[in-house]
Amino acid sequence: MVDQSSLHEQALLHLDEAAQRLGLDEPAIAYLRIPEETMQVRLTIPMDDGSQRSFAGWRCRYDSTRGPTKGGVRFHPASNLDEVLTLAFWMTFKCALLALPYGGGKGAIRVDPDTMSRTELERLSRAFIKQLFHVVGPDRDIIAPDVNTNATVMGWMTDEYSRIAGHPSPAVATGKPLDQGGSLGREDATGRGGFYLLRRLEKQLGIGPGARVAVQGFGNVGLHMARLLHEAGYRIVAVSDSRGATGNAGGLDIPALIVHKSSSKDVASFAGGEKFDAAGLVAADCDILVPAALESTVHEGNAAAVRAGIIVELANGPLTAQADAILERKGVIILPDILANAGGVSVSWFEWEQNRANVSWPLERIHDQLRTRMEECGLAVFELARQHGISCRSAAYMLALKNIVKV
Ligand code: GLU
Repeated sequence: MVDQSSLHEQALLHLDEAAQRLGLDEPAIAYLRIPEETMQVRLTIPMDDGSQRSFAGWRCRYDSTRGPTKGGVRFHPASNLDEVLTLAFWMTFKCALLALPYGGGKGAIRVDPDTMSRTELERLSRAFIKQLFHVVGPDRDIIAPDVNTNATVMGWMTDEYSRIAGHPSPAVATGKPLDQGGSLGREDATGRGGFYLLRRLEKQLGIGPGARVAVQGFGNVGLHMARLLHEAGYRIVAVSDSRGATGNAGGLDIPALIVHKSSSKDVASFAGGEKFDAAGLVAADCDILVPAALESTVHEGNAAAVRAGIIVELANGPLTAQADAILERKGVIILPDILANAGGVSVSWFEWEQNRANVSWPLERIHDQLRTRMEECGLAVFELARQHGISCRSAAYMLALKNIVKV
């Protein structure tokens, strides 16, 4: 039944549970059930063939108790309001957990970017900012890359914002190209943050180099996680993308797979592995499963087939509430999204700070600060979970909610 409820309703269950554990009554948290501000816009742009096309776009500023709202903008053909609200809710808890001076936000455009030319995507990105100029802003709501968006898109959006504002405003976005005020280390920050977290918890989790890892999704996040784990001696035994999957029980040659993916656009045709159906990735024979694609990819229908003992959620919301319950009962340890993928927004915060002070930090400083934050936060979550005999997700929500309602 729970799988049928909206994503937002499912997400609110974590708020309820955390509030109950913290002894907070309903009036103290009721406002967090409703997003602070949500805009739906129509984006009409000329296409390359001279025709006009309209697209739906959204921006949700879920809660600004801790500061300006912060979160990515995604391009996806299945994006919808419920998804955007939920992603913005998760950003609120992620920023609070990491004690960043931000609330949570998220945006989306319902579009399949594979069907668009580069110039069409640029017009669409600029139209998004034109329609939402009064919603976003360096001190109000700061955008970033998310699924199918990247530094180039952030560059277009920042340029459009600055053009309308009449002055350069790099701090309206993070994850920008370096020559437009981007930060060193932002590109691989989400994967790297998950990597630092996992490495710090090796002892507690009973794993280490040599452990077998399956990575679902080989976009910016999954790719860097796989690369860093491979460099550290972990065996990446299976990788999937939206088109298919490849596996090798002895461990895939990840640098070669990255080269292959950049030219052929898929992992399944990689000569160094055996091709299989992407749907089978979740059930791969491995120690650690890293979902790094979209939400709800592990659900009631496939959760029981998971063979990993540890899940590192690098995607946002990869497990439905039912899958979460099934895996909990199986004793799988889950490092939840609001912790595991918080490296991206952490380095976004570094970028925003650099923009405001008009300085740029060396890569070493970025890596050091990212590592410290992920490690400290990971240990705090793990310890609280152990003390109370609860899941890391429940512990993470407790710590985050405490930082929002300031109890
Ligand atoms: N889109 C990323 C996330 O979901 C990064 C957000 C940001 O850097 O603001 O965490």
